[in-house]
Amino acid sequence: MADEKKQYTFRCTVCGYEVTIDEPELPEDFVCPVCGVGRDFFELVEN
Ligand SMILES: [Zn+2]
Repeated sequence: MADEKKQYTFRCTVCGYEVTIDEPELPEDFVCPVCGVGRDFFELVEN
């Protein structure tokens, strides 16, 4: 069986954009591609 990496989904609290990555935190320099806010405005979505 293949190892499945845990995935984390973050949602922009300003515009609702969602991004899924395999790290528990967004990169420090991550910015929302829709509205341009930084990662502080993203919240982790519980799956
Ligand atoms: Zn946004």
